[in-house]
Formats: sequence, C-alpha cells, structure tokens
Amino acid sequence: MSESIFKLGQGLVQISQAQITERVAELGRQIRDDYATTTPHLICVLNGAFIFMADLVRAIDSPLTVDFLSVSSYGSRTETSGEVRLVKDLDQSLKGRHVILVEDIVDTGLTMRYLLNYLQGRGPVSVKVAALLSKPSRRQVEVPLHYLGFEIDDAFVYGYGLDVDHQYRNLPFVTSQRG
Ligand code: IMP
Repeated sequence: MSESIFKLGQGLVQISQAQITERVAELGRQIRDDYATTTPHLICVLNGAFIFMADLVRAIDSPLTVDFLSVSSYGSRTETSGEVRLVKDLDQSLKGRHVILVEDIVDTGLTMRYLLNYLQGRGPVSVKVAALLSKPSRRQVEVPLHYLGFEIDDAFVYGYGLDVDHQYRNLPFVTSQRG
C-alpha cells in the first residue's frame, strides 16, 4: 500500500489522481464483497471526506445508503485538541444498520475515537471505518481502520477534499508541497 506513494523526500507526500482512483476502486470492490448480504450505511464526515465519499460510493457496485455529519475540533489549524463538537447531526437512524464511517484522514485518532463512541451510542449493528489517509506515527489513541487508502508520513497534506484554510479542496490529488 505505502509503496505506491511517491516519497519526494523527508516528510513530503504526493499521491496522484491515478493512484487515488485505483485505490478507491479497490476499496469499493472490497466493501461490495464484504457487504454482499446486507446494505451498508455510509456516513461521510464533512467537510474533508466529501470527495472521497463521492468517489467511494460510486466504486461500490451494490445497494447502499448514505448520510452526513460534521464535526469541528478545537485547537489550532493543523493540530486537534481532542475536544470535538458535533456541528451537523445525522438525518437517519442507525438502529439495525451496518455503518461504514468515511473519514478523510486519521491523524492523532482523537476525532475518530469521538465519532466511534458517538455512533456506537445510536444502536447500529456494526461500525467499520473507511479512511483515505492515515498518519500512523502521529497516533495518540488506537482506532480501527478497516478500509484504508494510504498510509503517509507525518506531513500536513491537502487536496482531494482536504483543505488549507478552506482552500485547495478541489485539487484532484493529495500533496504536502507548499508554494
Ligand atoms: P485527528 O483527530 O488528530 O485524527 O485529526 C483528524 C482531523 O484533523 C481530520 O479529519 C482533518 O480534518 C484534520 N487533519 C489532520 N491532519 C490533516 C492534514 O494533514 N491535512 C488536512 N487536515 C488534517
């Protein structure tokens, strides 16, 4: 998985549009096969995961449902404090559902831990996690990642839904390069 990332040097990350497309297609096939006997409910964590979510659901060639939630975390621009606030709640019930939480990036894991606790409290049958990116070296709490796009080094990345000060979400690739 990580071999497919071009490492440009210490801490530099570049994942091309083609690499993302190929990996998302693989994840879609995996999810379709894993949920062959049930209809998964995919929950997108706004805003960062909106492009990954849109591509992932179209890569899953079987019935599914979707919902969206939004959180904001206190802390600086590039660092979460672990204190997370729900900004937009789910529209649909999770009772009896097989949930897949779709995140852009897992850094310290604090946001994911909050979200998993929150979702578990709403009565789903199961909860799995799909994340485009993970920075394992930054982890403060262990969280399960059932469907992972790419592991990356400790660098601040943007593009493909991820932002720098609300910009660059529309880049079709992921990069850590500045200027
Ligand atoms: P965590 O709680 O530390 O795992 O942080 C997760 C959230 O922080 C993600 O959902 C992103 O919104 C944000 N984040 C963490 N690292 C990056 C990055 O490299 N680029 C953009 N956003 C990031």
